[in-house]
Amino acid sequence: MAKKSRNYRKQILLFLLIFVLPCVVLVILSFRMISQERELAEKRASDERRRITVEISQYLFNRLETIKNQEISAESLSDGPKNPEVVLMGHVEDNQLKLPWEIRPADESGFLSLNQRDFTQKIQQAENEELVNKNFSRASQIYRQILKTSATRTQRGYAQLLLARVMKKSSQIEEAISLYNNILALPSNIFDEFRIPFFLYAAGRLADNTVSLKEVAERVRERLNESRWMSPTEAYMIREICEKLIETMNDSDPTDNTKENLLLVQKNISIIEQALILQREFPSLLRNLRSEQQENIWSAYGDADWLLSLSTSSPGTLPALIAVDAPDVLETLKIDRNSASVISSDVRLLAEGTGGGEYMGPNFRGIRMTFSENQGNALGKQWSLQRSFYLLTLLLVITVTFFGAYLLWRDVRRELRLAEMRSQFVSSVSHELKTPLTSIRMFAETLRLGRSKDKAMQDEYLDTIVNESQRLTRLLNDVLDFSKIEKGNRVYKMELSSLPEIIRTAARTMEYPLSQQDFKLFVRIEEEMPDIRVDGDAIEQAVLNLLGNAIKYSGDSRDIELKLEKKDDQAVIHVVDRGIGIDPHEQKKIFDKFYRVPSAENERTAGTGLGLSLVAHIVEAHGGRLNIESTKGQGSVFSIYLPIKRVS
Ligand code: ADP
Repeated sequence: MAKKSRNYRKQILLFLLIFVLPCVVLVILSFRMISQERELAEKRASDERRRITVEISQYLFNRLETIKNQEISAESLSDGPKNPEVVLMGHVEDNQLKLPWEIRPADESGFLSLNQRDFTQKIQQAENEELVNKNFSRASQIYRQILKTSATRTQRGYAQLLLARVMKKSSQIEEAISLYNNILALPSNIFDEFRIPFFLYAAGRLADNTVSLKEVAERVRERLNESRWMSPTEAYMIREICEKLIETMNDSDPTDNTKENLLLVQKNISIIEQALILQREFPSLLRNLRSEQQENIWSAYGDADWLLSLSTSSPGTLPALIAVDAPDVLETLKIDRNSASVISSDVRLLAEGTGGGEYMGPNFRGIRMTFSENQGNALGKQWSLQRSFYLLTLLLVITVTFFGAYLLWRDVRRELRLAEMRSQFVSSVSHELKTPLTSIRMFAETLRLGRSKDKAMQDEYLDTIVNESQRLTRLLNDVLDFSKIEKGNRVYKMELSSLPEIIRTAARTMEYPLSQQDFKLFVRIEEEMPDIRVDGDAIEQAVLNLLGNAIKYSGDSRDIELKLEKKDDQAVIHVVDRGIGIDPHEQKKIFDKFYRVPSAENERTAGTGLGLSLVAHIVEAHGGRLNIESTKGQGSVFSIYLPIKRVS
């Protein structure tokens, strides 16, 4: 037993060595390969990102430089930007940033002329009448005089504004409104000392009144579209006017564009506010904007929303700062015929230090570029597809290997079992041959020596000799038949035979061994049985085998039944015992050649494991069926079903 389990363990070890070890090695190698592939794919993706970054950066730089050159040559600081992407420009003077509304245009002579002494004196006189003496008619008279004698448009605008004010005070509302309407039409370059265009004052007054709301909104829009740099004060004033307009209109007119105006001015205000912060921080930013080696540097401001650059200062001019809205420029690149193909839908700029992004080259400072997930996704998808393919192939190889291993293992085990059973068979057969031979020899010698004079005793000895030799013959027949079956040349001689006759002969043959062991055989034969075509000897051999087993495996029971009956179109032979019975899971195996149930009782009982496989073969050759019903400890019924019609 110990040897057997050692053998078994050796087999398992060998199996592991041959199949599992290579599989493990294969899995390890595959995973190494997969991880290397992934690294390679990642490297490829990062190289690709780098290539695209360089390309887009180049396009972006070219575009930014074009914008800068255009704005500088157009002297946009006084007129407002030419490109919509430009959010701010300014002068750099003594390391300080001067914002556009702080730089007075050179030709600004308009308001200065207000200071003419004559004009100012008259204004003072009129205001004195209006504000101190409350003599509105006198005041309006003087204002009208000023209006007539005014030399410039600025003076006229100013006088109109004051006249309208006094008209309103003296409840001449209609005239006041018509005056305000005139002022509303004045161009934006007519402004006061705070650079507030006069028309805005008129717009403020008119916004309270329901008469010219549309005109006011239109004029404000005009101003917002003029794209001139707007001072903070002006922007706040416009915002106030817009809010007042919305309030007065009270959503009554859906066609008004005041709400849009409000959005526009708010955008302006947010730019102005950021510009004011930029102005404060400018001295510390300056370091980033200048470089010894590099001519043109673009650096990030805010969350990389603005890109800043300094113009190179030529002698006699101050260097200019230009700020461009980064998302806007990127948008224009997407439309550009050349750059559109490389730029993906979600290229974004990040301030350096916020994590991630690609280096954009020496022309950009403090900015990184990121891409949409798309690009990463495409590569990721390709990679995950590749990985699934590898894993699937690996799984397939391992499955096929293990399936093959299982088949091999099964065959080997079957062969081993058969070899074991065969060797058991040889020892069983030798044993079974020896027992009858010994008794034959013993009784024959006793008779020859004439030791027994008693006639009855002599007869009994002779009977035994005959019976034992019959048993030997049966055993040898079994072995010979089996070898014929194995070779495939067992021939059955089918003849019309009487089954009751065959059964009776079999019962007679077993009479002696049965009586020797005190067995009672109950034979029940249905005589109404037609002759059928069978090999009589073979059927008898089958019945004898079943009866022999019934004797061997009866345990303490001494009753055996042999029955022949007709059931429908079949003749059925039952051999019934009340012996040790057979476990359900063993019932299929006992028909295999050499198989013997591995139990203690069987160890003691002689047997070759051939009997039932022979019976099964014989029954099958007759087109019949062998059935077994057995309960462990209660006995077994073996039944041979033979078809009557087909064979007869
Ligand atoms: P052998 O009897 O020579 O061992 P068989 O092929 O006739 O070989 O039977 C195979 C096995 O089936 C036996 O070893 C025995 O364990 C079991 N067997 C056969 N007939 C019976 C029976 N009537 N009762 C219990 N066990 C049986």
